[in-house]
Amino acid sequence: MQWESPREECGVFGIYAPGEDVARLTFFGLYALQHRGQESAGIATSDGQRLYLHTRMGLVNTAFTEEDLRRLPGHIAIGHTRYSTTGSSVVVNAGPFLVQEGIEPVAVAHNGNLVNSEQLRQELLAQGIRLAGTTDTEALTWVLALTPGSDLATRIRRAMARFLGAYSLAILTPGALAAVRDPLGIRPLCLGRLGAGWVVASETCALATIGATFEREVEPGEIVVIDSEGLRSYPAPELAERQATCIFEFIYFARPDSQMMGRRLHIVRQRMGMELWREHPADADVVVPLPDSAVPAAIGYSRASGIPYAEALIKNRYIGRTFIQPDQRLREQGVKLKFNALPEVLEGKRVVLVDDTIVRGTTSRPIVELLRQNGAREVHMRVHAPPIMWPCYLGVDMATREELIAARLSVEEIGRAIGADSIGYLSLEGLLRAIGLPHDRFCTACLTGQYPVPVPTVAAVVANR
Ligand code: AMP
Repeated sequence: MQWESPREECGVFGIYAPGEDVARLTFFGLYALQHRGQESAGIATSDGQRLYLHTRMGLVNTAFTEEDLRRLPGHIAIGHTRYSTTGSSVVVNAGPFLVQEGIEPVAVAHNGNLVNSEQLRQELLAQGIRLAGTTDTEALTWVLALTPGSDLATRIRRAMARFLGAYSLAILTPGALAAVRDPLGIRPLCLGRLGAGWVVASETCALATIGATFEREVEPGEIVVIDSEGLRSYPAPELAERQATCIFEFIYFARPDSQMMGRRLHIVRQRMGMELWREHPADADVVVPLPDSAVPAAIGYSRASGIPYAEALIKNRYIGRTFIQPDQRLREQGVKLKFNALPEVLEGKRVVLVDDTIVRGTTSRPIVELLRQNGAREVHMRVHAPPIMWPCYLGVDMATREELIAARLSVEEIGRAIGADSIGYLSLEGLLRAIGLPHDRFCTACLTGQYPVPVPTVAAVVANR
């Protein structure tokens, strides 16, 4: 059995809207969440009687034809975009996951990662359930499908008692849409209105895309059920001691136009850039972002410092994750497949290069080199988050501990390894100041090693690979 579920990043979407073409609206909702997963896409719908499902590998716009959307009738839908790495890149693992054989048919779109999925899978196998794929979502959906209860919310609440880890879910049954967030609120999930209908999505950007209005976030531990009688909320039965929303959503993962915990991410990232200047000023002529994710922070750094902002790296917007493996000659081109530089902007300049994170360090070194080749006199690396030192087991594809450059090298050593003239990372305090919320609202495990749930030991993860 492979340990593969930690390598997932996903976007989920759901809609309950009689009279609307819900499959098409879900398609556009997923389009807005494409950054959360590019490997497969899927939509499940219900016409009140039965469930329909279409999943396919690839980007949202290649996964569905007009004909596919026509074969997804009904007034309730859920959708999923998934990212995973080799080994699990097969269509049986694509979401949403559908189980027909339980108490009633149920389909689930899941963002996050259960740390006890292996145990759940073993229990299901022992019950004689034949599991088709290898994901935690499949196990989660089966548990849900087999859990009895007087109504859907009761069944979900009982099933939740068996889930450990991160899960934001959109759940579809013949008669209802449900939205669920784990008790720590690790992955985001929000609720919106579309006319008389309801929408749920990983991020608010997906609401805006389809013309829905943002209502509120689904609370940690909350279950929301929407059916012909309207919307009912079932808050977490006990008040959690803390919330543990993924801080990496704020740093990099979520789209800058999304809102989370009452904050617009573009604005929060600008403030990260301002804090970064205060903590790590540089004597320089120009502030350059690594596009696209570090643009807001570079703007903030420039505003706070008075050093002009300039775009000097142009990213090919269409490169994405491609199924075409580059050959050796192209691999040697490395980041040049993705970025070109503007010598007119860089010639003779002392450059502050702003990025959101250094993970393995494979991007930074060639980028620094590219800036120098195009005339930069000095390159000062500035990162708008603390060093990433610990792997994520709760839903972000973030490499193993051995691969993380900051787990092996000190900050100064990283600066030397990437060939920068100086380097500075934003502190955790600076990051939290920029967000404007206390530490106990966040999971900061990738930065601090403090996991909010017990995670598998390194030995277990390696053995399962
Ligand atoms: P690396 O080259 O491994 O150091 O990765 C760092 C670059 O990848 C940064 O420029 C980030 O913007 C981007 N990045 C950071 N985290 C992730 C992630 N989880 N998935 C994909 N890209 C990422």
